[in-house]
Amino acid sequence: MTIPDLQAEPQAIVRLASETDFPGWREAARRLRARHVAPEAVIWTVDGAGNLLDAAGDTGAPSTFTVPRAFVELAGTVIRHRSDERFALLYRILCRLERETGLLAVKADPDVRKAHGFARAVAQAEHQMKAFTDFKRFAGADGGEVQVAWFEPAHRVTEAAAAFFVRRFANRRFSVLTPDVCAHWDTRELSFTPGADPADAPREDGLEDYWRSYCAAGFRPGQPARDRRNPPEARPIPQQIAHAEAPSPAMVGRTPSAPSPRAPPSGRLVRAAQRASRDASYDGQAVTTLEEVHAGVQMCRRCDLYRDATQGVSGEGPARARMMLVGEQPGDQEDLAGRPFVGPAGQMLDKALAAAGVPRDQTYVTNAVKHFKHELRGKKRIHKTPNAGEVTACRWWLENERRIVRPRVIVSLGATAALSVFGKPLAIGKMRQQALQLPDQAQGVVTYHPSYLLRLPDADAKAKAYALFVEDLKFAWSLAA
Ligand code: SF4
Repeated sequence: MTIPDLQAEPQAIVRLASETDFPGWREAARRLRARHVAPEAVIWTVDGAGNLLDAAGDTGAPSTFTVPRAFVELAGTVIRHRSDERFALLYRILCRLERETGLLAVKADPDVRKAHGFARAVAQAEHQMKAFTDFKRFAGADGGEVQVAWFEPAHRVTEAAAAFFVRRFANRRFSVLTPDVCAHWDTRELSFTPGADPADAPREDGLEDYWRSYCAAGFRPGQPARDRRNPPEARPIPQQIAHAEAPSPAMVGRTPSAPSPRAPPSGRLVRAAQRASRDASYDGQAVTTLEEVHAGVQMCRRCDLYRDATQGVSGEGPARARMMLVGEQPGDQEDLAGRPFVGPAGQMLDKALAAAGVPRDQTYVTNAVKHFKHELRGKKRIHKTPNAGEVTACRWWLENERRIVRPRVIVSLGATAALSVFGKPLAIGKMRQQALQLPDQAQGVVTYHPSYLLRLPDADAKAKAYALFVEDLKFAWSLAA
């Protein structure tokens, strides 16, 4: 096939509807390709008009040239970067793909490298928004509860993060205010309104007043979407407050997603872990500290479990511990707290460790899978067992923890942990009380998961299983010593 040379003239001006108008960019790019307009001859603008092409006359039918799916996905992410260069960069790559079909695999290519860098920065910003948006609960104008948060994302990721919050808080109304766009969920419909002015960004305890001002200026969460096009006059703020009832007890659920008590990772750690979490599978790079593990888990996309979890939960304990305890995955409370074994199973584990004479603070406690897998049933998040693919994907993180902590004994709590630690299924009942050699010189011990003990309905069976559990922990600690 002969591909005509690109024309440097005439110049085309593309007017996109918004900073994240990906459909508009795609349509414009198709038409520009049909006219063989060179990348350097295009001016990309955002003026809200959404006129695809201007100045050069738009007579070309959309190009039939097809691009790899990977490029479409990359472009959909890159377009949310704040760089003014992104539209032109993507169009330049698109034009080059027509002649250089394997271009996306050339990591050293400056355009490809820059696009991937933009995509990583966007993914990081999206993750940070999901993990660190701090919701406060207020009474809405109708007396019902609304969760409100202010966040300034590094890139334009509010729409993507809002979709996550909808899954996370399906039955609760919320508003997320950002300088780009504000997202509102009324338990039925997700809607967006223009961004809030960052010059007035709420500080300290100012969020409630700021939110009420925002509502008074034309938006009330819960208001039907059809009315939002022509928002009715809002009641004055004092009147709203006077008529606001206390939140209904039925609506006051658990404290919403709280940021991890650990400090957000530094830029250096983020970059290191980002590289490790994304590229190590094929370039062999590994993380070297537990801080990098923690930062990398927050950004990990090795499987889909990050999508519905509040945050990744990596292990906790001394960087050099004689004994490592590996559970299955964080539960509901661990997901909110960002720490392993802090819920009911953690309390059972603490009790058994104390009975076995094992100081928890001298052990490293972690999980085979770092994100909470669950399904929503009403307001409840119900645990789901991770599948073998998810365990295998997350094993990379556990292996890094093992390599850094170098425990003498690794205790697998339950079948999922054993699958991850040994790389194959083991029958817990048959294999307990044995020292099993692992390739990294550690000894492996298997025992029950504390959740299993909690689930046993019969008091006698529970007491027997608990005694065996304590015995196994004692046995493991004796090996570690
Ligand atoms: S569960 Fe593990 S592999 Fe999957 S996204 Fe989370 S950290 Fe990555």
